[in-house]
Order: sequence, then structure tokens, then C-alpha cells
Amino acid sequence: MDYVTLGKTGITVNKNGFGALPIQRITKEESARLLRKAYDKGIRFFDTARFYTDSEEKIGCALKDVRENLFIASKTMSTKAEEFWSQLHTSLKELQTDYLDLYQFHNPSFCPKPGDGTGLYEAMSEAKEKGLIRHIGITNHRLSVAREAIESGLYETLQFPFSYLSTEKELELVRLCKEHDMGFIAMKALSGGLITNSAAAYAFLAQFDNVLPIWGVQKEKELDEFLSYIDTPPFLDMDLIAVIDKDRKELGGEFCRGCGYCLPCPKGIDIPTCARMSLLIRRAPLSVYLNEEHQSKMARIKECINCNHCSSHCPYGLNTPSLLSANLTDYETFLAI
Ligand code: SF4
Ligand code: SF4
Repeated sequence: MDYVTLGKTGITVNKNGFGALPIQRITKEESARLLRKAYDKGIRFFDTARFYTDSEEKIGCALKDVRENLFIASKTMSTKAEEFWSQLHTSLKELQTDYLDLYQFHNPSFCPKPGDGTGLYEAMSEAKEKGLIRHIGITNHRLSVAREAIESGLYETLQFPFSYLSTEKELELVRLCKEHDMGFIAMKALSGGLITNSAAAYAFLAQFDNVLPIWGVQKEKELDEFLSYIDTPPFLDMDLIAVIDKDRKELGGEFCRGCGYCLPCPKGIDIPTCARMSLLIRRAPLSVYLNEEHQSKMARIKECINCNHCSSHCPYGLNTPSLLSANLTDYETFLAI
């Protein structure tokens, strides 16, 4: 079994965290069965967020009787202290607990610090003093905010997108977290659906002893795959290295990583999904991406006003509006078949 310790939090768990965003999309009964199975088979870290609708409630219902054996991380998108307190109390109520192991600022556009005028960090510290939360973390999609958070010394964990398709910039964040004794929680370890070999994804991340991947689980089949890695962790053998090399070659260069640095789009376009649609429809069952939800996301591309907010914020130098338009043309040809 591979273990990871999240820096100075001391939280030590096996290298399979449960990402509880996708359980919003399934029923209470189904999610209770998945969560319980995850727990029974050894998963101990569950990551949710106030923003994930009923995800916290589902965790609370399914796992309240084993609360002390788990680590629960949640997140707040609050921008003011009053909102912070009301979100924290709601999260505790929904999760049916009186403390969170880790509370994270959820993808803020700046790094909250004491004295910045928002009162957010002060509220976080007070919640810790009162025992309502045990550790303070931050999640982000922006390299600059992530670096600032690490260098500030104010945070115990960073949650950031990280997979074998990541670049040297993300690797540097992992190294910096280690230097600062911070835990690194890897979101999008399957690069939002582009990586289809979970053993390769696992084995790549297993090289980093401060990195905990949280796998977004919605189906039992997916869960079973990750559960099997608790007892039999995949390691980077020649076969998996070949998978990684092939994917890097195939997906290398001018492709959207789904990092979301370019958001928000003033027209509400889901750029991380839409700018990768041509890749996604070729790497996953077609039906998933041709449903109504994705058709309406793709149709929104037509509302682009070419403000270039996205391209000017893309760290990979992509011409995002033209990439979106090419993806839409390609998608429409799939729809017409
Ligand atoms: S250029 Fe288009 S896609 Fe990009 S941010 Fe502006 S409206 Fe959104
Ligand atoms: S367009 Fe660039 S910034 Fe936006 S999600 Fe893709 S890679 Fe990230």
C-alpha cells in the first residue's frame, strides 16, 4: 500500500482520495452505496465542497457513524467573513459533524491573507482556534495564486490540477510544496477525461510522496479500479511509461489542458470542456459528450464576443477563441453523423 502524508497537517492516508464532486449527479442511494464501499475497502480521505450542491449531505448520510475514522475536506467560495461563517456552519450541518479535517478556500482569484480587508483569513484562523476546522488549505487553478499561497506560509495544503500531462510549472509547485512542508492534493489527475489509463495516472503520481490524488468517482466500475490500487499499487514499469509517452506525444503541443486559468468567460462558455471536445469525443464513449448538456455547452461558443480574456490568460499561449471555434465545427460534424 502506498501512503502519503499531507505536509505539516500530519494527515496520512493511502494514495486514493475520494473526489466527491461527481456524486452530485447520482441518487442518494447510489452515492451512499459508493461512499460506503469506498470506506469499507480502505479509502479514508473524502474531498467535497459547499459548492457541490448535495455532495456534503450525501457524505454526511453515508458516513456519519464512522466519522472519527475519516478525513473530510471541504471548501468555501465565500468572499466575505459573514458568508464564510454561514457556509462553514452549513457544511458542518450537512456533513453531520462538528469539525472538518481540512477547510480550503475554493479557487479564489487572490490569495487570502490577514489584513487584506476581506476578513477571510482571520475567519479561517478563528474557526481553527475554535476547533471547527483542523487545518487550513487553498485550492486553485492559477499558478500565480498557488505560488503566493505557498510562499505566504499561511496554508497547510494546496489543491491544484496535476497529472502526467502537466508541465514543468506544476512540477515546480509540487517541489515548492514539499520544501514548505505543505501537502499537495492533485485534482484532475485524469486530466478531466483525457487520460483513460488510470493505472498510468496512479503510477505517475505515486512518484511524489507529498501528493494525494483525489479521484472523481461516479460509477462503481471507476471506484473498483481505484480500490484495487490500495492493495496492488501500479508502478511505473515499461508498459505504463510507454502509455504515458504515447499520450504525451499524442496530446502534446497545442492542446487545452482544461486548467481553467482562462475563466471566467463573460459569456459563460465552459472553456476547459469545450476547447477539448475534439479530444474528449475521441477518447471516451461518444454518447457521454453528445448529450443535451454538452450540446448546449458547445452551442454557447457561438456567443463568443472575441474579447480575448481567455487567450490572454492562457499560460500555454493558446489562441483559445479559434480553438473553440475549431472544436465546435468538429463537434457539429459528429452530431450530423
Ligand atoms: S474570447 Fe470568447 S471564449 Fe474567450 S473569454 Fe471572451 S467571450 Fe469567452
Ligand atoms: S484554454 Fe488555456 S487556460 Fe483555458 S483551460 Fe485550456 S489550457 Fe487552460
